[in-house]
Amino acid sequence: MKEAILYDRLSGNKVRCNICQRRCEIPEGKRGYCWTRLNQKGELYSLAYGRVSFMSVAPIEKKPLYHFYPGSFAMSFGTLGCNFRCPGCQNWDIAHAKIDLDGGQTEYVSPEDSIKLAKRHGCEGMSWTYNEPSIWFEYTLDGARLSKKANLYTTYVTNGYITCEALDMIGPYLDAFRVDLKGFSKDLYKKIANLSDFRGILDVTKRAKDKWRMWVEIVTNIIPGYSDDETHLRKIASWIVKDLGEDTPWHVTQFIPHLKLKNLSPTPVATLERARGIGQDVGLRWVYIGNIPGHPGQNTYCPECNELLIERYDFGPVQNMLAPGGKCQNCGVEIPGRFH
Ligand code: SF4
Repeated sequence: MKEAILYDRLSGNKVRCNICQRRCEIPEGKRGYCWTRLNQKGELYSLAYGRVSFMSVAPIEKKPLYHFYPGSFAMSFGTLGCNFRCPGCQNWDIAHAKIDLDGGQTEYVSPEDSIKLAKRHGCEGMSWTYNEPSIWFEYTLDGARLSKKANLYTTYVTNGYITCEALDMIGPYLDAFRVDLKGFSKDLYKKIANLSDFRGILDVTKRAKDKWRMWVEIVTNIIPGYSDDETHLRKIASWIVKDLGEDTPWHVTQFIPHLKLKNLSPTPVATLERARGIGQDVGLRWVYIGNIPGHPGQNTYCPECNELLIERYDFGPVQNMLAPGGKCQNCGVEIPGRFH
């Protein structure tokens, strides 16, 4: 266990955790909503520091991040638990799990060792992913600091529910923020994630881009009957254009039925294509279709001359034809993002 940061001591030995926007008030002996933070005698402890449930050497396209060092690999880590409990979570086996007091079901990997693993496997960066990275914030902060010293890029794959103050602590050390924007209504977020409001997610995402200059990409996993209506999709796309800019990639991905939503059908390809059209219609220049291997909507084309620049198949670039610095090799136009 490691003492947490960013918490307030309250009366009666209660504490308030300020890592995510739930701001759980936790009585003595109890844990917060994510189950990873325990109030012990009026002090808050992280049970998840260094406790890795799953790690892999993953293509950056798998996050998905498409305009961020394409073709590179990120050493990727997840722990147990989450501050959401989405009924159709694709990683429910780790995200819905309650971490043991002794970290059972996990392996301890120190921040220093996580960097060594990345280097040993030839990774160019680090990713905290698979479940919400802010729930083991202290560990990701230490890892991100060390990564910068080791010349590795750093990425959060997040639901965006981190607080502004936590974001501001890790902001100087994070290069990319890949945010799930599940929808654009209070009702939907209530149903999916048990949140009273989702506006804070928008504020944090904008802050990551404007204040910390992170490279931001947005994913919307389109769930049939939940987040597939046109008005809804149009609101998401319009917000991205207005607050993040037309060059922010938006990934509209197929929902694969899981868990409590396993009775639903996978999102039809036609729905994803319609969503892509809506995004392009409101002015987004980079709308990608996800989870449909071989679909041309996974590729990057030059917006000026329509040259195929990156051809992808599933989770990796098949061919990267970008000129150095991320330019179109045909007409020389610069593609927005972070490139070699
Ligand atoms: S990180 Fe966990 S304990 Fe802290 S506010 Fe969020 S859900 Fe609650």
